[in-house]
This record gives sequence, C-alpha cells and structure tokens, in this order.
Amino acid sequence: MTENDKYEIVIGLEVHAQLNTKTKIFAADETVYGAAPNTQISPITLGLPGVLPMLNKEVVEKAVKLGIALHCTITEENHFARKNYFYADLPKGYQISQDKAPVCTGGYVEIEVNNERKQISLTRIHMEEDAGKNNHELDEQYSLIDLNRAGVPLLEIVSEPDIRSSDEAYAYVTELRKLVRYLQICDGNMEEGSMRCDANVSVRLKGETAYRNRVEVKNMNSIRNVKRAIDNEVKRQIEIYEAGGTIDQETRGFNPADGSSFPLRSKENAHDYRYFPEPDLPPVVITQQTIAAIRAAMPQLPKELQEKFSGEYHLSAYDAHVLTDEREIALYFLELIQFSKNYKSAANWVINEVKSFVNENNISISAFNVKPAQLAEIIQLIDANIVSSSGAKNIFKSFAEGNAKSAVAIAEELNLVQSSDTDELSKWIETALAKYPDKVKEYKNGKKGNINLFMGEVMKLSRGTADPKVTTKLLEEKLNA
Ligand code: ADP
Ligand code: MG
Repeated sequence: MTENDKYEIVIGLEVHAQLNTKTKIFAADETVYGAAPNTQISPITLGLPGVLPMLNKEVVEKAVKLGIALHCTITEENHFARKNYFYADLPKGYQISQDKAPVCTGGYVEIEVNNERKQISLTRIHMEEDAGKNNHELDEQYSLIDLNRAGVPLLEIVSEPDIRSSDEAYAYVTELRKLVRYLQICDGNMEEGSMRCDANVSVRLKGETAYRNRVEVKNMNSIRNVKRAIDNEVKRQIEIYEAGGTIDQETRGFNPADGSSFPLRSKENAHDYRYFPEPDLPPVVITQQTIAAIRAAMPQLPKELQEKFSGEYHLSAYDAHVLTDEREIALYFLELIQFSKNYKSAANWVINEVKSFVNENNISISAFNVKPAQLAEIIQLIDANIVSSSGAKNIFKSFAEGNAKSAVAIAEELNLVQSSDTDELSKWIETALAKYPDKVKEYKNGKKGNINLFMGEVMKLSRGTADPKVTTKLLEEKLNA
C-alpha cells in the first residue's frame, strides 16, 4: 500500500481575480498595468485624512456576472467591512472588503478530470480592494513601494474544501480562468498577478471524518505552479505524519525554483483583522431587476457553446471542447461558420491550423492575419477540388504572412490550382507507371495497395497540383484496362 492510498487529500482554494475596470473600486484613478510607479494614485488611494470612498458600479456588475455564471445566490443587501492590518503597501491601515455579507454565496465550479465531472462548491465570492506592491529587490538599502495597484478591484472566490487532488485543483483554476475571460471581467493572467491563487491543503487518513489542520500555500504565479505547490505540500504533510509528527496551521510561501515552500507565519502569528462595518460606505442593494438585466446581457459561456457545437453543428464532444477552450478561438469559429457551412472542416482548420499558429507565434487572434472570411475561401477551394489540402496550407501560410489577395488569386500565383486536365494527368500517370513496371505487375496480381506509390509519383511529377480524385480514377482505369 502506498502512502497515497492511505491518505485522502483535502484542498480548498482562494482565488483573487483582479477586475478589468477602467478605474479603481473606490476612486477614479486609472488601473493600467505596468504604468510608471505611483502615477495612478489619488488622495483616496493614498488614504489621506478626510477623503471618502465611492463605489465603482462596474465592480458590482462584474461580481454579479460571475455569480450568475457560477450558480451563486446573489446577496441583496451588501455591506463593506474594514479588515485591519498594518503593512507598508496598505496606506489606510485597513483594506475595504466584505465580511458578513459577501456579494455571492453558494454556487459551484464544474470541472472534468479523467472524464469525470464534478462540482466544487463555493463558499463565497466577495468584493475588495487590492493592496499596493512592495519591492525589496530594486534598491539595496530601501524597500520601494508602488501604490498603483492599491484600490484595484478584486473578487475573492473561496471554495469549500471539496477538491481531492492537485489535478482537480488544476482543472478548477483553469475553469475559473476560462470563465472570467469569457465574461471579460478579468484577463486571467497569473504571470502578471491579475489572477492569484492560494491553496489550502491538508491530508487525512481515508475514512476519517474530521478535517485535519491545513496549510495555506501562497504566491504561485501559474496554474502549473498551483499543482506543483499542492503536490509538494501533500508530500511534505504525509512525510511528517508518517514520521509521527503533527501539522500546525500555518501559511507558507511557494518557491518556484524547486517547487518547495517555506514558512511565512504560523497560526499564533496570524493577523487578528478586527473586521468592522465600513462606516464610509452605505449598504449596496442589488435588486432583482438589476440581476435580471445582467443575466439577459450575459455572453454565451463555454458550456452552452459546447452544446451548440455538438448539437447544432454535429461536432464531436472533443472538437466542441477544444473549440471552446478559449473565448477568442470560439468567437473565431463562430464567425468562420457564418461564411462556411462545412462545420467539420471549419472545426479542423481552427483546431489544427489556427490554434497552432497563434500559439506557436504567441499572438492573439486579433493580431492573426487570416480572417475567418479568408479561411472560409480556402475551405471552399478545397471543397470544390480546386486546391489540394496541402496546397490549401500554403494559401493559409500566405494569408498568415499578410497577403491580402483572394484565396483564388494566391492559389494561381503559387501554382496550386489542381490539374484535372486529363491530358496532362495522363502524361504524368504514364511516366509514373513506366518508372515502376514491377509494381504495376504486382498491382495487376492483386497488390492493390501499390496504387499509393503511383499516386505519390504523380503528385511529385505534378508538384502537388494533380487532383487526387481524378488521378485515382484515371490510374484505376489505366491499370485495370
Ligand atoms: P481563512 O479566512 O482563514 O482564510 P476560511 O475558513 O475562509 O479561512 O478557509 C479558507 C480556505 O481553506 C477555504 O477555501 C476552505 O475551503 C479551505 N479549508 C478549510 N479547512 C480546510 C482543511 N482542513 N483542509 C484544506 N482546506 C481547508
Ligand atoms: Mg483566507
């Protein structure tokens, strides 16, 4: 019995999603990522005496959007609270957050691992402001503080301890990131910190009913590192239990270099946040009408699109899944099928060519030169037997390089128009057969597979322009004569 058969893994995740609003949650300062330090800071952000926060309506709308997408209950009367702690990147000495009345409660994230679907329950989603950023590396003597991020809106999404493996955690964060991107409320970029994940991890013996003490691991900057952090933490805890030790509740920092973690603070040193109601902000009432209006304006989400793709367009579940992985790709496909009704071929082109091209070149779809209408032209040329599929790839490449001519013009320019001119084809076929008299004999004696060899030869002679269907037909006629 391995140790992992003996123990059950218990994980709850806290994900912070930075909302992509133009201005901050309680101030009109801009929120541009990468702006020069301390250029997006007003007296409100600096927490100067006498200033008052004013709630950005867009934050509430975006929170409700996510709540609807995740099947949550939306709180009607919302309250903000002060979470008190002292830190250099928090000029007010408290963070405005939500405590007892978070904007969303309940709900779930649906994940799929090893072909099994599972719902991970959510505890809550609340709105809060981000802190600034300390920098301890830029200067030898001083720590530097950039307050541009202070006051940027966040949604904190807290899961129940329902996650049972690092693979499930990986799927959960991937799904959440996909959703916030579809909803266009957060760019989901973990490398830039606009989505962050803390993992609460514990293990217990299988069959045990109570949870054991958990350890919170912080600062993972990619989904892969969330998984690595969990794998390492699980291993660390099992080793301690196996050696007869105990786990105390603590917070640890992740070290991406080797996947290990180091202690940040123990439970004894945990903050006492002394939450109290924020007196400067009135309660925010979210009416049923507001919720209905936001619901009506919701974009189509991956799951609905998948159902549409497999139901209406008869694509496989796999294709539907891959096409909806990323919002931009799904939208590209939707536009493409406005121009081409060959859904299967459209799906193949998007999955195999478009996706690979944008991934390999690390560009966004908006910077990708082959527009859906152009790809549809290519598909039409293949369907009409005007170009071969390998010829079509050359047209695709030419479009991708920025060629703005029509697909037909490019096909002609690159000599890709398939020859179904039988005179020309016959000549190539004769040459091909003359080259392999033995193989022709074999064919006539029943080795029909040799036709591929002749076909290959004709393709070579025609430099790929021979129409495969017509060639096959002519070859067979000739060989069976
Ligand atoms: P805090 O406010 O201290 O962060 P919470 O009760 O809000 O504590 O829990 C934070 C996260 O820890 C939640 O995602 C929850 O599911 C998870 N969690 C709670 N208990 C455990 C446990 N024993 N093992 C793993 N995760 C846990
Ligand atoms: Mg917490």
